[in-house]
Amino acid sequence: MLDMTPAVLSERAALRINPCKTCQPVGAMYAALGVHNCMPHSHGSQGCASYHRTFLSRHFKEPAISSTSSFTEGASVFGGGSNIRTSVKNVFDIYNPDIIAIHTTCLSETIGDDLNAYIQEMEIPEGKYVVHTNTPSYVGSHINGFFNMMCGFIKYLSERGSAKNGKAAIFPGFVNPGDMRELKRIAKLMNTPHIMFPDTSGVLDSPMTGSYEMYPAGGTTIDEVKALGACEKVFALGELTGEEPANVLDRKCGVKYELLPLPIGIENTDKFLMALSRFSKAEVSYELEEERGQLLDVILDAHFYLYGKTAAIYGDPDVALGLMSFALEIGMIPKYVITGTPGEAFERKAAALLAKYSVEGCTVKQSADLFALHQWIKQEKVDIMLGTSYGKQIARAEDIPFVRVGFPILDRYAHSYFPIVGYRGAMRLFESITNTLMDRQDRDAADEDVEPVM
Ligand code: SF4
Repeated sequence: MLDMTPAVLSERAALRINPCKTCQPVGAMYAALGVHNCMPHSHGSQGCASYHRTFLSRHFKEPAISSTSSFTEGASVFGGGSNIRTSVKNVFDIYNPDIIAIHTTCLSETIGDDLNAYIQEMEIPEGKYVVHTNTPSYVGSHINGFFNMMCGFIKYLSERGSAKNGKAAIFPGFVNPGDMRELKRIAKLMNTPHIMFPDTSGVLDSPMTGSYEMYPAGGTTIDEVKALGACEKVFALGELTGEEPANVLDRKCGVKYELLPLPIGIENTDKFLMALSRFSKAEVSYELEEERGQLLDVILDAHFYLYGKTAAIYGDPDVALGLMSFALEIGMIPKYVITGTPGEAFERKAAALLAKYSVEGCTVKQSADLFALHQWIKQEKVDIMLGTSYGKQIARAEDIPFVRVGFPILDRYAHSYFPIVGYRGAMRLFESITNTLMDRQDRDAADEDVEPVM
């Protein structure tokens, strides 16, 4: 019989089945969409660009624009130089963005296309910009693609400036537009002038107006990306997503940074607020204090439904760690915690959280897949699953209550408008988790009612 214990499954190195991640360009495209008047450009085949656009559109239920170098057999043999030159000219002529953000694909990386040289040699219209990043999808995940594209913008555009601009830069991590709005609201309440980069609010949650806007009103402006280099400090949210771009900005422009966990749950949000308070010297506003108090109140009201309940948590590394932290705060036991994104820091940070709450018996794995998670759950079931749409077959097969959270959520609507960060986000998470467990309890009670009395 096949040994399916966590230890054995953890050793499977050469194959991923139902991976808990997607490819780098998806993240690069998402980051580029968070820059105002920007056209993301996929340097590869049309199939790659179609997949990435579809993936984002299915999660956000919004059009995710992108152009492509449209590789065919010729480009595969001779390189994509002529394709990218023609593409950039056509995109500026036809779609008129202010900036084109190019990311590579597996094919162009395998060929070894030198985008840096291509960009230096191409004719770029006056006042327009072209930036690029490398996103080979056979390493990393969409999270790497996201922060690589941030690094690309910073390397090309950010300027040290002659004087500091008095602002904080906030790197929000790979979160929904609804989360970015909430982070900006919190920063405003904390009296912190800031530049959020990237910022997909107002782009991938733009309102229905009756006319299609290729470039909606939102997004970090090019001037703001330049001005990142003159910021006083960077708050990089999501320690595993934010460190690389914060490092690049520090090296290029000398802007110091503070790495913070994604503000999911009470303590992580407290840390964000305290960091903003130290920066702006502002007291925490009554509005935020009230929200924190309300959150504690609802947790106290319903804690007996959650205490000791086991959870399987999976998704992007910073989101999974944030959910894990919140689960521990509300008395739950994270039984399995996985991410598909490689990086041993994930396991170290998860272990530190478990040690802090003296919780044992949790399996944590980076670079993991949902097949392994399913096998572990078959060995020892959990009370609830928290993660992306890709876990729904496991939840259905094993009859486990399931809360969709993270990226991607392909089979539900409107989720990207509502935050999971901040105290309000934690309240929403708490409501979803508690009511999902109570629904199950109601169903089980109803099932018992119809049982014949023996
Ligand atoms: S070929 Fe590479 S870049 Fe293209 S969709 Fe597949 S994994 Fe992504």
